[in-house]
Amino acid sequence: MSLESNQKVTAGNLKRDAFLYVRQSTMRQVLENTESTDRQYALRQRAIALGWPSDRVIVIDSDLGQSGASAADRAGFQKLVTEVGMGHAGIVLGLEVSRLARNTADWHRLLEICALTDTLILDEDGLYDPAHFNDRLLLGLKGTMSEAELHVLRARLRGGILNKARRGEMRHGLPVGLIYDARNCVVLDPDRQVQETVRLFFHTFTRTGTIGATVRHFRRENLLFPKRPSAGPQKGQLVWTPLSVARVSTILHNPFYAGAYAFGRSRWRKQLDGRYIHEHLPQEQWQVLIRDAHPGYISWQEFESNLQRLQASAKAVGFERCAGPPREGPALLQGRVVCGLCGCRMHVHYDVRRKGVMMTNYVCAGRTRRYQDPLCQSILGKNIDEAVGKLLVETVTPMALELALAVQQEIANRVEEADHLRRRQVERAQYEANLARQRYMQVDPANRLVADALESDWNIRLRALAEAQEEYQRRRATDRLIVDDAERQRILALTTDFPAIWDNPRTPQQERKRMLGLLIEDVTLIKQREITVAVRFRGGVTKTLTLPRPLTAQQLRATHEPVRRQIDALLDEYTDSQVARIINEQGMHTGAGDAFDTTSIKWVRYASKIKSLKERLLDAGWLTVQQVSKKLGVSRTSIGKLRLKGKLQSRICNDHGQWLYWLPSMAPNDSSNESTCVSSTAGDAI
Ligand SMILES: [Zn+2]
Repeated sequence: MSLESNQKVTAGNLKRDAFLYVRQSTMRQVLENTESTDRQYALRQRAIALGWPSDRVIVIDSDLGQSGASAADRAGFQKLVTEVGMGHAGIVLGLEVSRLARNTADWHRLLEICALTDTLILDEDGLYDPAHFNDRLLLGLKGTMSEAELHVLRARLRGGILNKARRGEMRHGLPVGLIYDARNCVVLDPDRQVQETVRLFFHTFTRTGTIGATVRHFRRENLLFPKRPSAGPQKGQLVWTPLSVARVSTILHNPFYAGAYAFGRSRWRKQLDGRYIHEHLPQEQWQVLIRDAHPGYISWQEFESNLQRLQASAKAVGFERCAGPPREGPALLQGRVVCGLCGCRMHVHYDVRRKGVMMTNYVCAGRTRRYQDPLCQSILGKNIDEAVGKLLVETVTPMALELALAVQQEIANRVEEADHLRRRQVERAQYEANLARQRYMQVDPANRLVADALESDWNIRLRALAEAQEEYQRRRATDRLIVDDAERQRILALTTDFPAIWDNPRTPQQERKRMLGLLIEDVTLIKQREITVAVRFRGGVTKTLTLPRPLTAQQLRATHEPVRRQIDALLDEYTDSQVARIINEQGMHTGAGDAFDTTSIKWVRYASKIKSLKERLLDAGWLTVQQVSKKLGVSRTSIGKLRLKGKLQSRICNDHGQWLYWLPSMAPNDSSNESTCVSSTAGDAI
């Protein structure tokens, strides 16, 4: 140790502790590179030589097996920084101090703190005082080079991996259904049951178009999906589990099933808090993609179209709604209506009217959702659905046969496939039972312990076999039923008469929508004086229909004209309640189809500005009790008495029992201007 070095150590430094930091970045190094660890511990002697008593040299070795790439998660390094910062350290020792931190930010922070607290740094090359410019420059350089070294190492490793991947030779965790053969090539899993299940999976998705429907189909048919866990107690074994939504999504996104080799489909991104998150990359950013690299279950086109369908489904519930899969509601054009005014997708709005009648409205709320504008347009769906249905029936008849045959074929295939797979399950159970039997037979009967275990295993297998057989028979029977009766009838009907099946009220609406979806791309609606319906068929043919604007709810419920005229006529003689009774007896109804009552007659009067019986009588010159009392100069009570004695001509003018009087001497037009402002209540009647 040079004189200069010794001069750097002051009494102040010696008063404080010496910290020896020992680290090996991986557990493998910890186990194999013991020499380096020994050298790190030997630095202790150097500290003692510089004047530190041996009991004041504190060893920090809690980071053994931790990488130096970041200070996060390295408790030992954090402790070292804390001790230095609090001024407890006189010197920090490390084998190659720059490797204390392989990250320049961490390293420079340590240097800064050492300089502030007068802490020395010692490694195999020498002793440094970070407060001195030269030493600090040197330490800084060492740190930078150390980080660079790590980078180069990593780049070299990564480059090697990438080169291998570019040739498609980098081995990958394969999804179930694909395995590596003896020559390290990817091939389809030779297990027939696995292969057929994966095929059924893709077929089901193609048919149904949604993840949910695929999962439901597997569940309904009691089919399990294979899985090879990459970790855990069952690692590498074939396990059969129910299909989950997440599973379907993962499989559909995996290009390996389309025979493509892909590498770098996702990456780890470091966050501010030092943790890493895993993110999936879009296809353009994948590092390697080699199509037709190995046999697959679907073609590349199918793979891409599956992803497009997933995207379309996602959009059906998202902001920009597009055509989604058909649902149960009655709106025939659900998901296929476009607003002709602003171009947004229109959505379906159902409202339940009186007597449980469900009304369909096609509503454009695109601008409302985006800009809080008022509703763009809302159109009653009933007439439009009917018109489009009619158009379809007219246009599509020649195609019906072809369509129906395809449907029949599809159903038959589906049933057969499921049957086939279930038979495989039975065969597998049979095989396992045989295997258990063989094992049991081969064991020495004297070896009771082993024989007992094997016997119970055999029993379990036999039970599983019986269950599988039973299930197979049961499903087979129900499947035959489905095809035999209802389905066959329906298919036959469809082959002969598409319009009939379309118009048949027992055809489920969802089925109708599915057929519609096969034929029609979308329908554009514009509501002006009339409603324009532009239907775009698949393949680009368009048809435009013009429909009258549907009546408003108010118009729909308005009283029909003959009924109104009849009410008008009756009001010359009768009060509201009397009119209601008479008109009901004549068998007439309100616009909504109900019987009349006093209130509904009042409404008709109000809406059509028809005068009531009282108004008519007043117009004709009849007088109220107040008017008579004023005119004759007698009290109201006296007028009542005169009426009872029959001295005054009078009649009841409304349902409250109000009386009006006729004075023979009166000219009819005398009271006409007063009559309008007369307000009568029940109390006025005498
Ligand atoms: Zn609109």
